[in-house]
Amino acid sequence: MKSQFRCSFSWRVVLLAAAVLSPLPASGKVVALKGAALVMTMDPMQGEGPLGLVADGDVYFENDRILKVVPAGAPPGPDVPAFGVETIDVRGMIVMPGFVDTHNHLWQSLIRGCGTDAELPGWLRDCMFKTAARLGEDDTYAFVRLSTLDLVRTGVTTVVDWSIAPSPEMVAGNIRALKDSGLRYVYAYFDWDCTVEDCSKANETRQRIVEFKKTQIDPDPLAILQTASHPVPLYEPAVKNMAALARELGIDFNVHLHEHKDDPHGAINNGFPSQIELLGRADAINDRLLINHAVHLTEAEIKMLAARGVRVAHNPLSNMRLASGVMKLPEMRAAGMRVGLGLDGGANDTSDMFNLMRAAVGLQRATRLDAGVYPGVADVLRLATLGGAEALRLESRIGSLTPGKEADVIVIDPRAVNFAPRWDWLGQIVFNGQPENVKYVFVAGRALKRDGRVLAESAPILARAEAAAAKIRVGF
Ligand SMILES: [Zn+2]
Repeated sequence: MKSQFRCSFSWRVVLLAAAVLSPLPASGKVVALKGAALVMTMDPMQGEGPLGLVADGDVYFENDRILKVVPAGAPPGPDVPAFGVETIDVRGMIVMPGFVDTHNHLWQSLIRGCGTDAELPGWLRDCMFKTAARLGEDDTYAFVRLSTLDLVRTGVTTVVDWSIAPSPEMVAGNIRALKDSGLRYVYAYFDWDCTVEDCSKANETRQRIVEFKKTQIDPDPLAILQTASHPVPLYEPAVKNMAALARELGIDFNVHLHEHKDDPHGAINNGFPSQIELLGRADAINDRLLINHAVHLTEAEIKMLAARGVRVAHNPLSNMRLASGVMKLPEMRAAGMRVGLGLDGGANDTSDMFNLMRAAVGLQRATRLDAGVYPGVADVLRLATLGGAEALRLESRIGSLTPGKEADVIVIDPRAVNFAPRWDWLGQIVFNGQPENVKYVFVAGRALKRDGRVLAESAPILARAEAAAAKIRVGF
């Protein structure tokens, strides 16, 4: 009995050692991106410097997970099977994590080009509210689907859709288009119904969101839910309800804050609480709060929000277009805030992440007359990827090519008339890059763009959006 025990115990040790020393070949579908001229892993443990750079590398993923990054041509190890691997030749190209768009309103592709000379209040009045009231389920689907196609084109793999959907039909069209896109998405659910004048539907809304999470979000591995509100006196009860629901569900709470120059003082001057005061009264200023824009914050407010772990979505293109101002990004960085970049829907007219990075760098340099100011090239590449993941508290799942993380990966081909010749590719991604240079986009290991072509057929999506827009524009 004793010797039998000893025998089985030693076998266990041998088997365990064998498993550790020579892992079994992967059992799922393995994809190998082979021969990349540069792999930007965003993980210092995987390569050189803070961006984890690997010159000449191969990237392997299995099903939806990153398996490994190895020097080009190196034997991948026993966990990669000898046969059945899909190999994609990426010689001469750059492999990096997909872009994270931390703030968008996806149906607003409908109002591209609207109110191009307006500030935020005029744009909201003439473009946003007028059209939102006219949208049905299929219209919403059409515009969200168009926006998601554009996001895939530019290399976005995760998007936050702060959904301004006044009706359940709009929510239904919105979520259907997000699911059809193949993107990883965060749906920020805004409560329209509850105001200081009438909050009688609060329970109904709460139930609808809880049910939505159960049926649409939880079964979908690419979906994440946030609650959203707008901290102004009219919506104070909704701010409290949505912040409380976020706490109850263990999810994040997402608001716009101090975007326009009048936002910090408009309410105070009329004897009402400020936006920050309203968030405080809702017990919402904590590490589950994501704020959008945050252009007009004092340094004391930045320090207070940073100390409470509040995160920020920075939208430089939108802030330029609407004359909103320039966010104090270097001060936020110094205070230790986690910041991501956002495209912000119809207020910037484009989904171009390269343009967004240029604006994030350029606005600070142009206003401070200092080319060394934060963010530099490496900083903005991080903001657009891992920084965005951190702003969404998803950094353990996405944002870098770390083994075990989800395979949200893009491939950029720099051998193009707008990009070549090679000088410093990191700078060239930021200052020369265009969506056309993005050759491959994978979300959770699934290709959405291959060899420069978005796989979803664009013609019917465009036609559907044009038809819906023509209907909604009548009488404008
Ligand atoms: Zn917004």
